[in-house]
Amino acid sequence: MSFDLVLFGGTGDLAWRKLMPALFQAFRHGSLPEGGRIIGVARDDLSDDAYRELIQSRFKAVEGGKRPSEEEFKEFASMLHYLRMDLSKPADYARLGKLLKGRNADTVVMYLATAPALFTSVVEQIAAAGLNTPATRMVLEKPLGHDLKSNRAINDAVQKVLSENQIFRIDHYLGKPSVQNLFAMRFGNALFEPIWRREHVANIQITIAEDLGVEKRGSFYDQTGALRDMVQNHALQLVCAMGMEPPINSHADAIRDEKLKVLRSLKPWTAEEIGLHAIRGQYGAGTAYGERVPGYRDEPGVDPDSKTETFVALRTEIANWRWAGVPIYIRTGKRLASRDARIEVNFRPAPHAIFRVPAGNANKLVINLQPKDGLELHLLAQPQDKRQRSSGTRMESQLAPVQLDLDFDKRFGGERVGAYERLLLDVIDGRLNLFVRRDEQEEAWRWVEPLLDSWSSDGSPRSYAAGTWGPSASSAMIARDGFAWSEEQ
Ligand code: NAP
Repeated sequence: MSFDLVLFGGTGDLAWRKLMPALFQAFRHGSLPEGGRIIGVARDDLSDDAYRELIQSRFKAVEGGKRPSEEEFKEFASMLHYLRMDLSKPADYARLGKLLKGRNADTVVMYLATAPALFTSVVEQIAAAGLNTPATRMVLEKPLGHDLKSNRAINDAVQKVLSENQIFRIDHYLGKPSVQNLFAMRFGNALFEPIWRREHVANIQITIAEDLGVEKRGSFYDQTGALRDMVQNHALQLVCAMGMEPPINSHADAIRDEKLKVLRSLKPWTAEEIGLHAIRGQYGAGTAYGERVPGYRDEPGVDPDSKTETFVALRTEIANWRWAGVPIYIRTGKRLASRDARIEVNFRPAPHAIFRVPAGNANKLVINLQPKDGLELHLLAQPQDKRQRSSGTRMESQLAPVQLDLDFDKRFGGERVGAYERLLLDVIDGRLNLFVRRDEQEEAWRWVEPLLDSWSSDGSPRSYAAGTWGPSASSAMIARDGFAWSEEQ
């Protein structure tokens, strides 16, 4: 199968940091169909060779084992091409057409790794130049739009020229091995199904914490904020993967139908709910990696009076028979105490105590997404301590927390397929399972919109020191339910 992958935004941050390294890994693993072309598109005047040199120089920043050798890069580079285009100029699309039509590849992937403001006009120009063919697959990066209305406008424009099964709305969290293993664990094993419900689950916590600040992306982030950047897409997709009903089969629409039902079941936001269960924060100066770091408003590209949130903590519920009344806590932020993404399913305590048990949550299942990639099952066990004996008819022993730890890297060994690598290969192969359908995406925007409206018109985020777990209001919110974030348990 021949393919052309056109990377609109081929010199941008996403292309350098994520897409090119992922494409190289796919090449190294022998997964990229032979004879494909990867065509970087941007406004710089570069030859193919100059573009290859640029990419090679960027690969120097790639961590050790993932960096190509000279030999490997030479082979990979033969797939790389460059086309200078100004995406706002209709005439430039004719040159793209010439390049593509000269080859007539079986699959033409158009990856929009450029500013979302350009998406609508790029799609219109692609159609005007007759480049939307049955071979076309279009990848749309997140966040798609900045609210429901703008999201719909982009989707309307794309659906005018392509059918839904040609549109790949990417959420790279769905490509993470642990998220796929969450599906495997839930729907490949019968073990968890009976306890995966309100009768047994006390609460669910989803944490996506970054220890870095906004780095060089201050001006982008200041227009976006944590709610649009992380909650509307990644966090809600994790809620879906955790809370959805078993799909009838593994086809894309069967999975997406079930995810959509979860999004539709999320408790709607009222003014009172927002006041109680939606916390936003913004990092001030603090410490990271043992060094003083500036506050958000002092970061390059950020408005010194910015009200953009760099932290969000929410409490919601999936209002259906399985989950009614089970709090789901979501928190995400920048410059937090550590880099850590995980889902924790906290189970209810034993209904009757015959042992002495330590304080805190005894049974939980932790799905680690990053930096670790695996599953932990936390249990209580009898420590092998000679001083603890049974006296009379009663077991006097104090149980101790232990955990079963499944580290996917160790268990499956070898080099694992990263999220972008997996998703890029899925696009080339036409598999939609791990991509977001339009109705899902709209429902997610609909759910966050009351928060966006409220926060844009009302007050400022609470401040928190860089290197902490966010504003204290986040801990207070969860404590009101009698629970605590995992690091406070
Ligand atoms: P970026 O660094 O600003 O790169 C934008 C790219 O688009 C550059 O190659 C730029 O090249 C090109 N471009 C801009 N205007 C153009 C025009 N008129 N004609 C042709 N090319 C043009 O942006 P990014 O951070 O890579 O983000 C790209 C997309 O990915 C955005 O939608 C973003 O929301 C999304 N995203 C990014 C990340 C990330 O980590 N960076 C993560 C998730 C999603 P020239 O200016 O040289 O033409």
